[in-house]
Amino acid sequence: MKLVSTLALAASLALSPAAAQKPAAPTPAQADAFVREAEETYARESVDAARMAWVQATYITDDTDILAAKADARVNTMAVKYGLEAAKYARVRGLSPDTKRKLDLLRGGITLPAPTRAGAADALSTLSTRMSSAYGKGKGTLDGKPVGGSDIEAAMGEVRDPAKLREMWVSWHDNVGAPMRGDYAKLVGLANEGSRELGYPDAGAMWRSGYDMTPEQFAATTDRIWAEVEPLYQSLHTYVRWKLNEKYGDAVQPRTGPIRADLTGNMWAQEWGNIYELVAPKGAGDLGYDVGELLKDKKYDPVRMVRQGEAFYSSLGFQPLPETFWQRSQIVKPADREVICHASAWDIDNRDDIRIKMCTKVNADDFVTIHHELGHNYYQRAYKDQPALYRSGANDGFHEAIGDTVALSITPDYLVGIGLLDRSRVPSADKDIGLLLRQAMDKVAFLPFGLLIDKWRWGVFSGEIRPDGYQAAWDALRLRYQGVKPPVARDETRFDPGAKYHIPASTPYARYFLARVLQFQFYKAACRQAGWTGPLHRCSFYGNKEVGTRLNAMLAMGQSRPWPDALQAFTGERTMSGAALSEYFAPLKAWLDEQNRGKPQGW
Ligand SMILES: [Zn+2]
Repeated sequence: MKLVSTLALAASLALSPAAAQKPAAPTPAQADAFVREAEETYARESVDAARMAWVQATYITDDTDILAAKADARVNTMAVKYGLEAAKYARVRGLSPDTKRKLDLLRGGITLPAPTRAGAADALSTLSTRMSSAYGKGKGTLDGKPVGGSDIEAAMGEVRDPAKLREMWVSWHDNVGAPMRGDYAKLVGLANEGSRELGYPDAGAMWRSGYDMTPEQFAATTDRIWAEVEPLYQSLHTYVRWKLNEKYGDAVQPRTGPIRADLTGNMWAQEWGNIYELVAPKGAGDLGYDVGELLKDKKYDPVRMVRQGEAFYSSLGFQPLPETFWQRSQIVKPADREVICHASAWDIDNRDDIRIKMCTKVNADDFVTIHHELGHNYYQRAYKDQPALYRSGANDGFHEAIGDTVALSITPDYLVGIGLLDRSRVPSADKDIGLLLRQAMDKVAFLPFGLLIDKWRWGVFSGEIRPDGYQAAWDALRLRYQGVKPPVARDETRFDPGAKYHIPASTPYARYFLARVLQFQFYKAACRQAGWTGPLHRCSFYGNKEVGTRLNAMLAMGQSRPWPDALQAFTGERTMSGAALSEYFAPLKAWLDEQNRGKPQGW
């Protein structure tokens, strides 16, 4: 699930004559003029690049791969030129705060900066497009038959035969990840070279510089948040391992040590909600309904699911989605061509041409994903009147958190309100543990995964993790943070990171970790504004216009202010923290610790 905006595709196009003839000691006024020119060019030139990227993602052929790589290289080259120029202006004394902020954004806002030497931008774009495309077309097998990305993901959630799970897991990782190994190492070298030209020690430090604090402070912030939530994860891990052992026996899932990754109902063991039925406690765990079944019973199709998502935002007072959204989005997988199914939200023209790209299935996961992607679209629309360089999230974690905040409001009472669930089937208070455990299987299970993806990449970019140790370092981080291990031994002929979309796509991942804690901060604030006094997890702020107004005020700020200002505008707080998440799950934590008493903890 990611966000694509034209600006996120990188800056654009040619330096102005004024910039090219810049005098030896530029003035603040010249810096202002440079920024103004850069913003205009951005706003104008990024639109076609976004269209090209859209066509490639929704119609993968050799030709669209080449065209997308070319468009990407052109934009990247120009973004780097702007970044280099911005670095010089940033040293001018007496800059206005806005100009200073925009210069920093120009310099640090490029995900994979290409080196300026001839051919380097083309080489980098070719590598990254080839990997994305290979991922989009990637297939694993089930019973020896090829199965594509979105289908094999769904099958991992449904199949319970450990041999078949292992077959899918191993084939996917071997087929998709391993062939990218060489390309990935080359991409890292080029991105680092480009980052150094812009004045960063490596690309990872550049990624960590986008949070209104130093890269070191940002790494420390993620560690602090992890320390706040780690005890909850440990409790969940202990409980789930015990349940998997009960289900599969010692030979498949031992009572101690790590959890076998392919048993978690997810290809990457990143969210475990699909195996909720295996861990649900008798009585309290039976919620009496499944959102996917409810949708099927009421004959929902994917478009109607998206309409329902839109209705939530409308209930908060947001304007309906534009007609072009419905004409241009890819809501279901086209039958006749290769596409990148990984869900994403797009803003093509930085005005009204917002879209989602999904291969929607009628199930609970995709119902939540729709709310997630729409959160991006409403954010994009809320800040469209900001100057071009401010059309982004307060930080990238904010952008990922908005839709999830809304999705936390998909409570039983909400489902009754929209006619999906019969009032008589609303789980009573004695089912609270079940409701919380179901949520935790996705939300809490994700936390260490969300953290370790960029721990790995930061290490790769810094050189601490060398190409001959890519796989070992990946496995070590998975073991240390998630406490999971692959179903078969891996070695350095493999490249399991490449089998996760965001690695070949070079989408930074710390944002998803931040979003997991931020969404609970936002949700708690929204529920407080709505006057909710019951247990936090039963709160739905559906229909509350006051929450909508305050939410919109934060979204409309875009990236114009340091993120603590935006956080404060909606929540009154200035620190990202795991406290709200911990509060939400506190009753579950107590219950898990009760269940876990006397059992081996940790791995
Ligand atoms: Zn997203």
